[in-house]
Amino acid sequence: MITLHGISKTYAQGGLEVQALHPTDLMIGKGEFVAIMGPSGSGKSTLMNILGCLDIPTTGTYELDGKQVQSLTEDELALVRNEKIGFVFQSFNLLPRQTILKNVELPMLYGGVAKAERKARATELLSKVGLGDRLDHRPNELSGGQKQRVAIARALAMNPPILLADEPTGNLDSKSSLDIMRLFEQINGEGATVILVTHEADIAEHARRILRFGDGVIRDDLRKDLAQGE
Ligand code: ADP
Ligand code: ADP
Repeated sequence: MITLHGISKTYAQGGLEVQALHPTDLMIGKGEFVAIMGPSGSGKSTLMNILGCLDIPTTGTYELDGKQVQSLTEDELALVRNEKIGFVFQSFNLLPRQTILKNVELPMLYGGVAKAERKARATELLSKVGLGDRLDHRPNELSGGQKQRVAIARALAMNPPILLADEPTGNLDSKSSLDIMRLFEQINGEGATVILVTHEADIAEHARRILRFGDGVIRDDLRKDLAQGE
């Protein structure tokens, strides 16, 4: 599903070059549930932005679902993002003036899905995340955990094979965090590849594989199944 070969990223910072990500090889298979951990500045977001086709690596090749990402144009990248990847952010990134139904319909509007189908699918997704009775509410009428559930419904709108989440529980209390992680587990159980960044060990515990970053290098790659000898 995801194969990185020699992927690196160098940023220019006022005349200096900062290597945010050293040449990295990484394979993530279909249906994996991966947590990425590591201190601030260790390269987690840089990797997520590359995986999400939001940023272009300095070196290396990235194969995503059979496509060579490094050779795509901006327009092709935008298409790949919309079709293959659902994004979930710490800060939810919902449109505040729109109902949650409209928020979830938005990726489908960009994706050219017909109006009736958009509404039906957004309704179905919001029911799935437990907000079927709130379709006409706006984000500021909801709790943080509910907002994040809307964001997850939106991320699933185009039925992407991959879900990328950057600190998805960073703004949530522990009860809401647990609800969100159960939802990711359910989505992963239904076949999606889930990759998330977190600072919290108990959040990472929900994943089946934990990648630890340090100074732009993957220091540790732990698979739970193997560790437990299952
Ligand atoms: P993390 O997500 O683990 O906190 P990042 O990937 O955001 O780490 O950052 C890794 C390194 O790359 C840091 O030294 C950071 O300052 C640098 N960096 C990240 N983004 C940029 C950018 N857009 N321009 C310049 N330097 C950046
Ligand atoms: P943070 O995780 O620090 O709060 P954001 O989640 O706001 O940062 O954004 C991370 C990156 O993803 C930014 O470069 C932003 O432009 C981009 N981004 C934000 N929302 C979307 C979206 N819906 N689709 C694609 N890219 C997005």
